[in-house]
Amino acid sequence: MDAKKVLIIEDEKPISDIVKFNLSKEGFETLTAYDGAEGLEMALGVDPDLVLLDVMLPTMDGFEICRKIREKSNVPIIILTAKEEEVDKVLGLELGADDYITKPFGLRELIARVKANIRRTGMSEIIGADPANVRDFGNITIDLNRYEARKNGVPLELTLREFELLKYLAEREGKVYSREQLLEDVWGYEYYGDIRTVDVTVRRLREKLEDDSSDPKYILTKRGVGYYFHRPE
Ligand code: CA
Repeated sequence: MDAKKVLIIEDEKPISDIVKFNLSKEGFETLTAYDGAEGLEMALGVDPDLVLLDVMLPTMDGFEICRKIREKSNVPIIILTAKEEEVDKVLGLELGADDYITKPFGLRELIARVKANIRRTGMSEIIGADPANVRDFGNITIDLNRYEARKNGVPLELTLREFELLKYLAEREGKVYSREQLLEDVWGYEYYGDIRTVDVTVRRLREKLEDDSSDPKYILTKRGVGYYFHRPE
């Protein structure tokens, strides 16, 4: 398997250097950009498997970069934020980031999250095309070979989290899960986020999945409890 390529967009060289060093040690290929405009150009030009994205950057901030990457690509994006403010985290997720890490972060945590977020591409290579990995839920198809969801045969442009959330709920159709439970099971590790992370991801998923996201037919809300998948008639 080819080394996975991680693009690090971070203007603080000591942080960039230590992240680069540790990812290289884990077998990743690393590329670095030290300002926003350069980072965006590389993100769209070098076909990375994952982007680590600082927020406060010269020439263009991380949120703007995130938004621009998402217009063209579904590459997993982890936002590195120096601020504790939750508004930053939620904004990053709204703009299509898959994950965020608050600085200062532990390197083990960072590497664990890089691996978890990159799993989508790794999975499809490991599994191969096994028809048992393609499951139909009415007109929604969950394809674990390609880590892809399709609606009426048309692929949905989902991020890793959106895909995993849909897969989790669809495989347990009709069963209601609380935000806390979803955070634990779908995000899959000790997550510092708050439960609004789940709401934001559900909203983004609905925008891509539903005919009318204000009147959802697939991902339904059980008021005061949580969310569940419903197979339309
Ligand atoms: Ca910075």
